[in-house]
Amino acid sequence: MTFSNTITQALALDQADPLAHFRREFIIPPHDGGEQIYLLGNSLGLQPYRTKARLQEVLDSWGQYGVEGWFMGDQPWLKYHDTLTAPLAKVVGALPHEVVVMNQLTVNLHLLMVSFYRPEAKRRKILCEAKAFPSDQYMFETHIRHLGLDPNEVLVELAPRAGEHTFRQEDILAAIEQHKDELALVLWGGINYYTGQLFDMAAITKAAQAVGAKVGFDLAHVAGNVVIQLHNCNVDFAAWCSYKYLNSGPGGIGGVYIHERYHNDASVHRFAGWWGYDKETRFRMEKGFVPVATAEGWNLSTPSMLLYAAHKAALDIVEEAGWEAIQQKRQQLNSWLWFLLEQLEATIPAGAMEIITPRTAESRGSQVSLLMHRDGRTCFDALTAAGIIVDWREPNVIRLAPVALYNTYEEVWRFVEVLRGILNK
Ligand SMILES: *Cc1c(COP(=O)(O)O)cnc(C)c1O
Repeated sequence: MTFSNTITQALALDQADPLAHFRREFIIPPHDGGEQIYLLGNSLGLQPYRTKARLQEVLDSWGQYGVEGWFMGDQPWLKYHDTLTAPLAKVVGALPHEVVVMNQLTVNLHLLMVSFYRPEAKRRKILCEAKAFPSDQYMFETHIRHLGLDPNEVLVELAPRAGEHTFRQEDILAAIEQHKDELALVLWGGINYYTGQLFDMAAITKAAQAVGAKVGFDLAHVAGNVVIQLHNCNVDFAAWCSYKYLNSGPGGIGGVYIHERYHNDASVHRFAGWWGYDKETRFRMEKGFVPVATAEGWNLSTPSMLLYAAHKAALDIVEEAGWEAIQQKRQQLNSWLWFLLEQLEATIPAGAMEIITPRTAESRGSQVSLLMHRDGRTCFDALTAAGIIVDWREPNVIRLAPVALYNTYEEVWRFVEVLRGILNK
């Protein structure tokens, strides 16, 4: 499709958008008598109107039935988990029984390290991104120490080449090859939170497994954003949060994928709790842990029905819109943004702004990161004052991510126009 940089084109794209009406499913925060141009689906997805009613259902059931709410009502709590796994499995390309909804992301990464990082003799190294999301860095550091190892010896933090912002695929594969005899685990982000770079997870998985390492992905910026095929790519494990592109509310419940080949493998270690115990015999409360024979066998604690309800409300919208249709719009909205940004680059002072997200569509999702070489903070403040909600990452990066379910082509056009005005001041 060829675009033209006009408001008329923006409006025409919105007019032709088969998902346009889904915007009305979301509460758009107000700004100055109107609505914000909210471009932060990568940080905290917006609240669906229906979330409140879903939460209310849980409260009503609790009020009506007390503890019997586990078995009674339209949505017995004991079966709530099963309503989440099928829609999530579609979004991450897993089999439904390979998905468990539990805890939060960092907690889940620790738990997955217990199962999939088993340092032995020479094979003790973990390959990860340099400057991974801070929580992931703290997880690595403390988990490795807890095992009595030295993070400086065990952790191989690969950085982009000097002067470059993103990773070259060949460098990741070369690092795997370089450490092949010592590599226990590759734990990588699916999309880098800072640059928005989307990695070739199939190729990384293949290369890591070929040298005998396990492979996991942090999908915080992937789940609900782009298509992935965890099962078909043979990924060992993955984890994500639900409050970014999955719109399930601040601190929403996390999700984990574990390939089915591990579900009945007694050699895989895990930290267990009663909620991962075989369902048939759980309430006999006997000694000796017997796991559920699916990814649910990794669950530990009584889950929050309120968090499930918020997650369900958001996943229902994904189901109604259709994951394939969401992806089609995501791609076109993203092409529109890039078309406008590339036009913008040609009309602002040279060197004012650098796009550090990869320019090829296969290497990015919804997010674009702009490195502001001049007056970055002023620019960010001016956008905010204009009701355009993006975020600021030190030292000087503006991140934004228009998302298919609630952003419009017009909003993207207005964002770029306002940015042009600020940069040309
Ligand atoms: C958002 C994000 C997190 C957040 O972890 P929580 O435990 O949910 O707070 C972790 N890792 C990455 C890569 C993220 O983008």
